[in-house]
Amino acid sequence: SDAEILQVRKKQTPAQPQSSGTAVETGRQTFKSGHTKPLKFRRHQLEQLWRLLDENVELLSEALYKDLRKSNHETVIGEIIPSKEEINDALKHLDEWAKDEYVKPSLVNQIGTKCLVRKEPKGSTLIISPWNYPLFLTIGPLVGAIAAGCTAVIKPSEVAPHSAKVMSELFLRYLDSRAYIVINGAAHETTKLLEHKWDHIFYTGNGSIAKIIMKAASQHLTSLTLELGGKSPAIIDENTNIKIAAKRIAFGKSFNAGQTCVAPDYLLMTEKVEEKFMPALKEALEGMFGTNPQKSPDYGRVVNHRHYQRLTKVLNENQSGEIVIGGQTDEKDLYIAPTVVSNVDREDKLMEDEIFGPILPVIRVADIDDAIEYINSKDDSLALYVFTSNNKLAKKVLDSTRSGGVVINDTLMHVAEGALPFGGIGPSGMGSYHGKKSFDAFTHERSTMIKNVNPVGEALMAVRYAPYNTTNLRV
Ligand code: NAD
Repeated sequence: SDAEILQVRKKQTPAQPQSSGTAVETGRQTFKSGHTKPLKFRRHQLEQLWRLLDENVELLSEALYKDLRKSNHETVIGEIIPSKEEINDALKHLDEWAKDEYVKPSLVNQIGTKCLVRKEPKGSTLIISPWNYPLFLTIGPLVGAIAAGCTAVIKPSEVAPHSAKVMSELFLRYLDSRAYIVINGAAHETTKLLEHKWDHIFYTGNGSIAKIIMKAASQHLTSLTLELGGKSPAIIDENTNIKIAAKRIAFGKSFNAGQTCVAPDYLLMTEKVEEKFMPALKEALEGMFGTNPQKSPDYGRVVNHRHYQRLTKVLNENQSGEIVIGGQTDEKDLYIAPTVVSNVDREDKLMEDEIFGPILPVIRVADIDDAIEYINSKDDSLALYVFTSNNKLAKKVLDSTRSGGVVINDTLMHVAEGALPFGGIGPSGMGSYHGKKSFDAFTHERSTMIKNVNPVGEALMAVRYAPYNTTNLRV
């Protein structure tokens, strides 16, 4: 009961933060001791994580407001609820996910053989998370690690320091500190952590650092999950409900001020569609944030000055196109209005790297083939969006492009769907998670064959022993 748990928690002596070397050793020893393997332990830790979220909404919301000026509403629907959903899913299905999976042996092993796949925890793991959804992108992978029976050292992003601090304090209070340990710090501390031998590394962040992570992992042949980003396109077809499409694009690009790995990075549409779409997009944005979004309590800010400089530079260096919505900036407030740049040149600065902020370029295309060709000329993205009521067109896009995930007629919503694996392809990532896939990411599927020593089976398989009698061999 809750009362019992509170009693137990009161009795526990508060654990102290650990140094990186000690943390690695603690995690490894705890795993070796078998402490994290029992399902009862895993379930209890998941329940504790759920309580942590449930009992500290205000504290977490305050930290996210300080880091990103994230509104309480966005924190709840974009960080707390999805994290709780991941936990609920794991608690509901843990027995089923963790149980041995029996498979039917083939002809060769038919007599006296059992074949099964044991779901074993990978071991002591490292989770490195980014700043944009500091809570969800830390807790999501952690749910997988706990459910699978692993220990984890967690390295939150230094770019969201308030969230990192709150998480380290709360994890110490709610979770078993021998198994789940937060180490705070930036590149230097992460480099130190990466020198150690891990059984799995789960990294979320940009592709350049992913290369550093991969190189470090290669030294120990450590398995990796890489959750990266990229330029996710959105195609607006003429056969669509323009008003709803505009609202859903406005939501996907303004949520967390565009600092979302699956935010629509750029739009593709014909000039004719643009004539109708642009007023609808303006109306949708005004409906959400008024005529001056800087005054809206619901609109977030760019995370820091470095990112503000990066975004305003790319906007200023943009040689083509015309700002048709927004464009206002205020460095003191780290504010960039939701900004739409129309008729952008395909080779422009805005089309080089992932924007990761509230700037939305529009590329004019001649038709759907032109849009597909352009998408295929670029790296495979993390998400791809198509707004159309023409099923044939949607299928054509699906069949002739690649991306981590794809949504027809919406943005972002696939991230909240635990039944769908979430991950990239090529430069947008490696591996996936959410729901059962999170459990799988931290699990080793150990093939197990159990043979009996029945003389009948032995006689039937005598063909494998030398001296060989080729006259009896049938192919
Ligand atoms: P970030 O700057 O917080 O970096 C991510 C992590 O890498 C941090 O914990 C940081 O401390 C660590 N790090 C920084 N420098 C390092 C170094 N030299 N060596 C080792 N580790 C180092 O976050 P970011 O990279 O700016 O995050 C934004 C990117 O992440 C975007 O590209 C976005 O698309 C992507 N992203 C992807 C997902 C996803 O789920 N696929 C989610 C969010 C963000």
